[in-house]
Amino acid sequence: MPTHSELANWDRHHFWHSFTQMETYESVVIDRAEGVWIFDTSGKKYLDGVSSMWCNLHGHNHPRLNEAIQTQLGRVAHTTSLGQGNCPAAILAKRLADSLPGDLQHIFYASDGSSAVEVALKMAFQYWQQCDQPCPNKTKYIALGEAYHGDTLGSASVGGIARFHAVFKPLLFDVIRLPTPDPRQLPSSEGACEHFLQQLEHVLSAEHEQIAAIVLEPLIQAAAGMVFHPEGYLHGVRQLTKRYNVLMITDEIVTGFGRTGRMFACEHESVEPDILCLGKSITSGYLPLAAAIATPKIYQAFLGDDDSGRAFLHGHTYGGNQLAAAAALATLDLLEEEQTLQHLPSKAKKLAEILEQLQEHPNVAQCRQHGLIAAVEFTPDPSSNVPYPANIRIGALVCRAAKQRGVWLRPLRDVLVLMPPLSITLDELDFLGNTLQESIQFAAEEAADILATNPLAK
Ligand code: PLP
Repeated sequence: MPTHSELANWDRHHFWHSFTQMETYESVVIDRAEGVWIFDTSGKKYLDGVSSMWCNLHGHNHPRLNEAIQTQLGRVAHTTSLGQGNCPAAILAKRLADSLPGDLQHIFYASDGSSAVEVALKMAFQYWQQCDQPCPNKTKYIALGEAYHGDTLGSASVGGIARFHAVFKPLLFDVIRLPTPDPRQLPSSEGACEHFLQQLEHVLSAEHEQIAAIVLEPLIQAAAGMVFHPEGYLHGVRQLTKRYNVLMITDEIVTGFGRTGRMFACEHESVEPDILCLGKSITSGYLPLAAAIATPKIYQAFLGDDDSGRAFLHGHTYGGNQLAAAAALATLDLLEEEQTLQHLPSKAKKLAEILEQLQEHPNVAQCRQHGLIAAVEFTPDPSSNVPYPANIRIGALVCRAAKQRGVWLRPLRDVLVLMPPLSITLDELDFLGNTLQESIQFAAEEAADILATNPLAK
C-alpha cells in the first residue's frame, strides 16, 4: 500500500478534482468510511455533513448495501440495456414506478444526474415532434434563474448559475430564463407565489406554441444556495403547464428519496410532472445511477414499428447497470426496513433546534431548513444582516474550521449547507451542532481580524 504522503502527492498532482482550484487544493484522501463517518489516510475522521455531495442516504459501508452489491457481483456486473434487460434493473423499474407519484411508469436509466436531465430534455423535444398532434415548433425550454441541472452542455444550458456556466455560454443553447422564485428577492414574501406564477404565465401565454417544457428543481434550488420556493409555486407551475400544453420536467436529483421529509418533493404539493429526474441518493451514494421517468402519455409517443423511427434516440453504455440497480434496490429496502422516513421528523426537529441555537450567534444572518436539508448564511454586521464581502470567503472559513474539528462540509459560495445522511443519529446531530457553534465562532473571529486589518476587503 502506498504511504500517506505518496497518496497525497498523487492525489494532488494527478487526480484533477471537480469544481476545485487545484493550485490551492489541500489534499485529503479518504481511506474508508463507516456510517456517517469518513476516515482519511492519516486516520482523521470526519462526520460527512453533506452526504458526500448530497447522495449518501443510509450511511457508508452499510452491510445490507455491501451484501446486495456483492451478491449481484456473483451473478453478473454489467450487460447492455440496448435491446436487452436485466433482473435488478427490471425489478427496480417496477419498484420506482410503484413508489413515484401518479402515473410516472417508464424509467429511462442514465449514469449521473446531468445525463438524466439531458435525457429528459431530449425526450421532451422528440415527444413534440412525434406525438399524436405534433408541435414541431415546440423547441424552447423555460428554466429558472440560478437553476442547476448538471454540467453537460444540455443540462448546463438550462442551468442559470453564472459562475458555473458563463464561461461556456457560446456553447450553450438559449432558454427562456425566469427570475429565481426566491421570496427574499421581493420587498415582502406575501403574494410571492402569485408574483412568480404571473411571470411564468406571462411567458407561457405569449410563447407556449414554441415551448417544449419547463424544467425546475421542485421546492428547493440546491446549488443556488438552497433557495426555497414559495409554498404553492410547484403546484401552480403544474396547473399553468397543463393549461398551456407545455411539459413539466422536475429535477429531483437532490430532493428525491426523503431528503425533504417526503419520498419525493413533488408529493408536498401533490404534483405529477410529465418527466421526473432522479440521481444521487438513488443508490444511497454507492454507485452511479440516475433516471428520467416518464408518464404513459410521453412514452406512447415513442411507440411504433421498427421502421417508424419513433424509438427514443438516446442511450448510455452503463444505463441500467446491474450493480447500481442492486444498490438502488437495497436502498429502497432499507428505506422500508429502517423506517427512514418515519424517523425523519425527530431528526428534522433536532436539526431545527440546532439551527435555532446557531441563529443566536451574532454573525448568523439566516438559517433555513426543509427536512434534513439546511442552509446557514452569515453577516459581519448583525444590525444590517448584509453579507460578508465575497473575498473574506466566510463559507470556506467556517468549513475549514469545521474540518479541523471533525465535520466535513462544503459551502455553496458563502452559504453553509448541512445535508447529512438520513441515517444520522440524534447524538451525531448534536456533534454536528456543537462543532458548528465552535466553527462559526472561530471563523467569525478570523473574518473580523481580516476586516480589521483590511477594512476595504470586498
Ligand atoms: N440536478 C441537480 C438539482 C443537482 O444538484 C445536480 C448535482 O448537484 C445535478 C442535477 C447533476 O448531477 P450529477 O452531478 O450527478 O451529474
